[in-house]
Amino acid sequence: MSSNESAQRYFNQAADIMGLSQNMRTLLSTPLREVKVQIALEMDDGQIATFIGFRIQHDSARGPMKGGLRYHPEVDADEVLALASLMTWKTAVVNIPYGGAKGGIAIDPSKYSQREIERITRKFVDEIHDVIGPDKDIPAPDMGTNSQTMAWIMNQYEKYHGFNPACVTGKPVELHGADGREEATGRGVAVVTQAALERMKRSVTGATLAIQGFGNVGSYAARILHEMGAKIVAVSDQHGGIYNDNGIDIPALLKHASQTGSVKEFQDCKNISNAELLAANVDVLIPAALGGVLTKENAKDVRAKLIVEAANNPTTPDADAVFEKNNILVVPDILANAGGVTVSYFEWVQNRQHFKWELSEVRKRLEKIMTESFDRVWKISGEKNVPLRTAAYVLGIGRVGRATVLAGI
Ligand code: GLU
Repeated sequence: MSSNESAQRYFNQAADIMGLSQNMRTLLSTPLREVKVQIALEMDDGQIATFIGFRIQHDSARGPMKGGLRYHPEVDADEVLALASLMTWKTAVVNIPYGGAKGGIAIDPSKYSQREIERITRKFVDEIHDVIGPDKDIPAPDMGTNSQTMAWIMNQYEKYHGFNPACVTGKPVELHGADGREEATGRGVAVVTQAALERMKRSVTGATLAIQGFGNVGSYAARILHEMGAKIVAVSDQHGGIYNDNGIDIPALLKHASQTGSVKEFQDCKNISNAELLAANVDVLIPAALGGVLTKENAKDVRAKLIVEAANNPTTPDADAVFEKNNILVVPDILANAGGVTVSYFEWVQNRQHFKWELSEVRKRLEKIMTESFDRVWKISGEKNVPLRTAAYVLGIGRVGRATVLAGI
């Protein structure tokens, strides 16, 4: 099943509960605009490389469209569309005034120099600058991109449109970025993990965790959950995983990973595979890397009682059905990882006001939005007797649908 088929399946599960008409389903699922461009690069060695870039704008009923830019070899139109639709429901679930979009370039960034990545990024902006902007569509980091990429996007956009830092979020703090944006997705994941454990009559203190992925999201989630007292026993990245029954020393692991480029071969830990990590005997499993990692084949091996989707689209619908049957609670991506776009919203607000908030203010407001959104989704789940994912979609689709109808078609 493709990424978009799986996103569509989740959409329809909620649409069925809501009794949404076929016409409304078609309207809400059809993207507004799909842009696909060629990006030709003269590499450092003089050779020419050609890439395909995408920006798919899914829905703008609730405001300018918003979503990250992914640089990854598997980026294609199907995946970008799925991720764009997730952004529409995500911004609606946390009730920030945006629609949804996503973009990406099919490239393995590790194979190119920083100068090459800069040139590719600027060329991409040359192609899409007139369809993005602070009131149209605001890109942000995602897999394979970071604050440096956003700085180049801002600079290139401003060559056409003049000073306007609100055209992109996730920028460096030295260049109109928001304090707390980099940690925001991980912090939001930690907040909802704690909230879900409380509902399960468990405390985050002493809860055992396995985290797949140690990039921006996974490493901040690990750091913050460790500070909250959780015992992280397994961590993995693309090279493999590590396990320690007594809990991994996360501050030391952060150092080790930044020095060696991987979590592997870490003190007092045994090496495990990514498959072993997903099946670890823990209270909480946090997939924080690629999509589609929890499948029909491996879902039955999952022993965690709670899954918190820090990644986008990590669970296929078949795996989701297994988790429901096995009474495993799943906090869905469109709620669990919404902390990132929430602080992107704070960054955009600060840029528009030319006024900088303190880090404590950013964190306080992020925690409030994440907790309130979790509570609301939990309530719908109870009232309608549906899993948290369906409840989150009901909330998101309901808000987008009402905005669409009120504005007039
Ligand atoms: N790429 C992140 C996401 O998937 C953040 C998007 C944003 O900040 O606009 O939610």
